[in-house]
Amino acid sequence: MEKLQQKIMDEGIVLSDTVLKVDRFLNHQIDPMLMKQIGEEFAQRFENEGITKIVTLESSGIAPAVMTGLILGVPVIFARKKKSLTLTEGLLTAEVYSFTKQETNEISISSKFIEENDRILIIDDFLANGQAALALVDLVNQTDATVVGIGIVIEKSFQDGRQLLHEKGYRVESLARIQSLASNQITFVKE
Ligand code: 5GP
Repeated sequence: MEKLQQKIMDEGIVLSDTVLKVDRFLNHQIDPMLMKQIGEEFAQRFENEGITKIVTLESSGIAPAVMTGLILGVPVIFARKKKSLTLTEGLLTAEVYSFTKQETNEISISSKFIEENDRILIIDDFLANGQAALALVDLVNQTDATVVGIGIVIEKSFQDGRQLLHEKGYRVESLARIQSLASNQITFVKE
């Protein structure tokens, strides 16, 4: 997605060879116009999949997921990273291992929002080693609903996430695919 690539070039900050900071439009301050265009792009890419719900992870997945849900006309459920006082019944949980933080965290959603005929699109902000996306898949797979695809705003293609998800048979659509962050330079995969 050209507009997103341009935004990453203009406002992204390379923190290291493996980490990109995008807090000017996605991870802290949010650019609503860009999020709307991201929503339109995901909606178009998955328009023939009969999506009935979107599942994402708080907090940075919510903006692109809600915009996609608005355009597809479907609800959005975000998995929580912390236990909620009010979210107690029928809790589905999955573990996410973070290679960067070297720690495992639990994420959860309430099963009451997922029905057996649901066709679920998973959306997240970044794809690195695929652990967050896999944990979201794991949550959905604890129900009778079907994961029909995974939409990623920014994929770091030099890490293993896409391959891992492909090997498990999932369709992955990434709107920007970064080939390298080496030498403080952002380069994209040529498509
Ligand atoms: P994974 O589980 O695929 O290894 O990592 C995905 C999660 O880690 C994303 O949800 C995102 O929050 C975070 N993440 C991974 N790499 C980056 C990065 O380069 N920049 C930012 N801002 N977040 C990242």
